[in-house]
Amino acid sequence: MVVYIGRTIVLTEMQSWFKGVSMKELYTEINKKLYYFTITVVIAIMLMGLLVDNPYYSQDGSAFFLHALFLTFFAVCLLLYPRNTSHYCRLLIMITSFMYFYSLFFLYPDTWSNFIFLCLVPAISILFFDPKLFYFSLALNSFAILMTFLYIILVDQGAHYSYIQEDLVGNIINFFGSQAIIYFIFYISYGRLKKQQLYFQQIKQAERLKTTGQLAAAVAHEIRNPLTVVKGFLQFYEQSNEVDTELKKHFHLMVDELNTAEQVISQFLSIAKPAKEKELEPVNIRQVLQSVTDLLHSYGLLHDNQIELQIVEDSYVAANTIEMKQLFINIIKNAIEASNIGDVVVVAASKIKDMVEINIIDYGQGMTEKEIESLGTPFYSLKSKGTGLGMMICFNIAENYKGKISFKSTKGKGTTVTIRFPSLI
Ligand code: ADP
Ligand code: MG
Repeated sequence: MVVYIGRTIVLTEMQSWFKGVSMKELYTEINKKLYYFTITVVIAIMLMGLLVDNPYYSQDGSAFFLHALFLTFFAVCLLLYPRNTSHYCRLLIMITSFMYFYSLFFLYPDTWSNFIFLCLVPAISILFFDPKLFYFSLALNSFAILMTFLYIILVDQGAHYSYIQEDLVGNIINFFGSQAIIYFIFYISYGRLKKQQLYFQQIKQAERLKTTGQLAAAVAHEIRNPLTVVKGFLQFYEQSNEVDTELKKHFHLMVDELNTAEQVISQFLSIAKPAKEKELEPVNIRQVLQSVTDLLHSYGLLHDNQIELQIVEDSYVAANTIEMKQLFINIIKNAIEASNIGDVVVVAASKIKDMVEINIIDYGQGMTEKEIESLGTPFYSLKSKGTGLGMMICFNIAENYKGKISFKSTKGKGTTVTIRFPSLI
């Protein structure tokens, strides 16, 4: 039955994954439609500029042809772009756009607003979010405008471009001002895009890990059942008189190993269990610590370790009682296991401002900085019979209830584990 639940989780996960794929396809479909719509509008406006009230239409056939030619180049490049989004295609779009807008400026000197387009040409490259292309178009535009101004000063001498010649310095300043604005727009939007890409990648990675975790949980479930059966039979044969005593010698070792495997699976499954299945309730930390220390009292006595409880007042945390017990059992057990014979383990809890702080102090073997960093890594254990999952579970539980675990430790002197949770009252 439980195995079935495990499979259902995996299945729904896969289904949502497939849904995710089709959503992505839909998204790119919409993007393409939007692109073609925008480009059609832009080309229509450019055609209007060519055909409506064009002075060259009847007078100067070559100027009209040149305008039409650059417009065609630019429009074709824009229309072909979704089929070939390579860097060279983008470069081609930028170059044809330069040719188109600069030809407009020189073919129609009376239309002063063409100068605005010259200031804005690099903005087209912002749409591609390609930094190299953007810097290239900024540099190309600065060079082209320098040449244009030199032409106006030296050759034209204000004959056709009096609006530029009359306030040359002002126009130059405005040009560089516009380039700076374009640069800032690129800088900010590119930064935002990078962040979004990173976020998207993280979500995808988390999604993948979740699926893998749930698959692993389903497999772990499948393994636990046969293990229990094998262990049961071993225990049965161990007590049976029909089995040779010589053979029975190894039974104890086999059951022991199966117990370890079972423990690893149980601990692993408690991590894989989704947080929403667990109920949230006000947990009295004093009561939890009291029952946990009572439970571990005899475990401590094995090595003559006493657990000293120092709690003054009741404090409450919004969490799940069973998980809280699991968290403290793991940490106090670690403290006992690290302690020398006869040492005391101190468990202290207090309310500090709006936090509940629990300190578990031992005077045992301690840890180096590197060892502390490794805590929480699955299967990291320095004990011969350790599972190396205890701390991972603890970090997981603490995170579920907005708690934090920190360590202060000196090798050979002892460790203080501090656990903090937001207080309920
Ligand atoms: P396990 O207890 O099964 O080894 P844990 O995840 O609980 O796995 O702990 C991982 C390792 O961290 C332990 O093997 C031990 O080396 C180290 N450790 C944890 N708590 C302490 C402590 N209080 N003092 C010294 N070492 C500790
Ligand atoms: Mg442990």
